[in-house]
Amino acid sequence: MTNEKLIELQNIVLPVMRILTLIDQEMEKKLKEIPLGLIRKNATRMHAVCRFKRGPKGYTKTINDVKEVAIHPEALNEQWIHYARFLMYHEYLHAIGNIRHDSVFRELESRWPDEDAKNAGKEFGRYLRSKSAKWNWTCPECNKTHPRSRKSNGRYLCRICKVTLIDSPAGQTHQTQ
Ligand SMILES: [Zn+2]
Ligand SMILES: [Zn+2]
Repeated sequence: MTNEKLIELQNIVLPVMRILTLIDQEMEKKLKEIPLGLIRKNATRMHAVCRFKRGPKGYTKTINDVKEVAIHPEALNEQWIHYARFLMYHEYLHAIGNIRHDSVFRELESRWPDEDAKNAGKEFGRYLRSKSAKWNWTCPECNKTHPRSRKSNGRYLCRICKVTLIDSPAGQTHQTQ
């Protein structure tokens, strides 16, 4: 079922890359041969990855060295599917030989025609952290909440109010006094 969603993404992303003349028919065929997968469900920092086979040091990797393109499973939810398309586009840019996030890469990345998707990374990261959070660190002054995996144990201050943050278990929507 999941794989079907990845194929659906691919069926949107590859034609756009053709329109942008980033790939030709032959490259499209090669991209289609790359196995698609999912990254760990509880990953919060990594949103997607293009995995290459190991090669000799200093060797320039090409499309033939790609082992897998993997997307975060949470990005396949309807709410984030626009971002998932952009993630796949980003990883395919790596796959076609743009290994580093250099200025060339960023320029190519910026050609993706969905502005919301291009700016969704931060919000998606926050969404993942709040999902995996066991604790909320809350400022008793301004009520700003920071979802975290560990307790703050009185070690952190609100950046704005300079007041010690209070721990409360995550999943609890109301603050208990
Ligand atoms: Zn990247
Ligand atoms: Zn505060």
